Amino acid sequence: MGTKTVPVTITRKALSKKQRALEILNRLKHLYPDATCSLNYSTPVQLLVATILSAQCTDERVNKVTPALFARFPDAASLANAELAELEDLVRSTGFYRNKAKNIQAACRMIVSEFNSVVPNQMEQLLKLPGVARKTANVVLAHAYGINAGVTVDTHVKRLSNHLGLTKHTDPVRIEQDLMKLLPQPDWENWSIRLIYHGRAICKARSPICIACELADLCPDANKPAALG
Ligand code: SF4
Repeated sequence: MGTKTVPVTITRKALSKKQRALEILNRLKHLYPDATCSLNYSTPVQLLVATILSAQCTDERVNKVTPALFARFPDAASLANAELAELEDLVRSTGFYRNKAKNIQAACRMIVSEFNSVVPNQMEQLLKLPGVARKTANVVLAHAYGINAGVTVDTHVKRLSNHLGLTKHTDPVRIEQDLMKLLPQPDWENWSIRLIYHGRAICKARSPICIACELADLCPDANKPAALG
């Protein structure tokens, strides 16, 4: 390890923040070439619902819940007219189920009444939907419509972007603004997806495996217990 540290530190410090972000992006593309959204869905409405359910919950857990949910309520109209108690029951295991069910139903009612039953493809309109903030809107725009309107900042993107020294903020909106300045727009969403993969596999919240991390030479927090604790 000692022999590796010297050239590594020089490399990181020789790069600007933007150069470092681009190098991290390149490495993530090589590490996770086939990274895609982990949520299962068939339509934009289903992606919206799955993303709302993924708050404070793993995608894996959401994917266990959505088959029964979408079999019973496949579209905006059926979700808008569902019995709230039944909806709550179907999403219960994702946590915060009362709030999530209420928001899903309210969002679907608005999609039906104001957007002709089609999930809007513009950020400003998506943000009008109950329970939809920029994170959810970015996911829907990128994966349902192929529009890179912003950078999705979830718990992994937030943690890793801080470790990697690409932002000093903790507020997701400020983090997103910092990342949008550093990364090319076509890569905004694939950055988030790949960083999430890296967060799950290597840079885990409780115990980052810096020794196995392919980004360590670019990471100011590599092997720093105080920063990682
Ligand atoms: S070096 Fe450590 S802290 Fe930095 S990204 Fe890798 S695992 Fe995370």
